[in-house]
Amino acid sequence: MKVIVVSKHHGRSRTFTLGGWTRTLLSVCLLGIPVGLGVLVGNELSKSDGADLFTGDSTKAWNEALSSQTDKVEKTKRHAEEQLGALTLRMAELQARLLRLDALGERLTTIAKLDKGEFDFSHPPALGGPESAELGEAYQAPDFLKVIDQLTEQIADREQQLDTLEALLAKRKIQRDVFIAGRPVKKGWMSSRYGRRTDPFKGHVAWHNGVDFAGKLGSDVVSVAAGVVTWSGERSGYGQMVEVNHGNGFTTRYAHNTDNIVKVGDVIKKGQVVALMGSSGRSTGPHVHFEVYKNGRAVDPAAYIHRTNR
Ligand SMILES: [Zn+2]
Repeated sequence: MKVIVVSKHHGRSRTFTLGGWTRTLLSVCLLGIPVGLGVLVGNELSKSDGADLFTGDSTKAWNEALSSQTDKVEKTKRHAEEQLGALTLRMAELQARLLRLDALGERLTTIAKLDKGEFDFSHPPALGGPESAELGEAYQAPDFLKVIDQLTEQIADREQQLDTLEALLAKRKIQRDVFIAGRPVKKGWMSSRYGRRTDPFKGHVAWHNGVDFAGKLGSDVVSVAAGVVTWSGERSGYGQMVEVNHGNGFTTRYAHNTDNIVKVGDVIKKGQVVALMGSSGRSTGPHVHFEVYKNGRAVDPAAYIHRTNR
C-alpha cells in the first residue's frame, strides 16, 4: 500500500509505502471509531426508557400524572375551604355570644341603677368578619387575624367589666343584708314599746330597753339582718336569749325564747329563724323581747323595724 502526502507550501508530494501491519492498524483506526460509537449509543438508548420516548405511551403516562396532581391540589383546596368555613362559623358564633354578654351587662347596669359612664356594654363589635358565601374570595389572612385579635380584646374588656359589676352587686347585697330592717317575728303584734313604761312585775315606772312582740308560743323568731351569732343561751332577766352581731357596730337581741335554734358562731341570713317564741326569764306570757344596740348602746328598735329595705 502506498500513501501519497502533498505539501501545501511547496506543491511537492511525498510517497510512503505502508507495510502489512501498519495497514491493518490504520484500517482498524478508521473503521473502528464510528462502529464503536454506534454500538455505544445503541446500548445507552436500550438501557434507558429512551425506547418510550418515541412511543404514544409516554404522553399518556404524563397526562395521568398531571391529572393526579391536579386532583390532589383540588382536594387540598376543598379541605382548606371547608376548614375556613368552619372557622368563619365559629367566629360568627363568638360574635353572637359577645353580643348577648353585652346585652346582659347593659341589663344588669340598668337594674343596679349604676352610672352608665362607669360601664359600657353598648359599643358595637368593631368588625363584622367575613360573611360572604364565597369563602375562597372572602378569605384574607391578615383581616381574619385582625378580627380574632379584636374579638379577644373585646372579650377581655367585657370580662373585666362584668367582674367589677359582680363585685359591686355582691357588696351591695351584703350591705342590704346586714341592713337592720323589719320585725323579729313573722306573726305577732307589738305589745310594748321602747322607753319609759310601768314595770309589769313591780308596777313602778321603769325603762324598757327594747320592744316586745307577743304571739303564739313556739312561733318563729327571725333575725332582722344577716350576721354572726354571739350569744345563744340563758341570760339573767332575758331567759333564753340569742344575740346577733351584724357588723358596723350593730347588735340585736331576741329574748324569752322557749328554744334557741342557732348556736354561737353561726353565720345567719336575714330572716333566718334563730329561736322559737317563749316566756322564759322575766316574762308574763309568750313574746319576744327585741333589742337593737348601736356601738354598745341600746336604741329604739322602732326606727329600724319601720324602715324599708334598701
Ligand atoms: Zn321587753
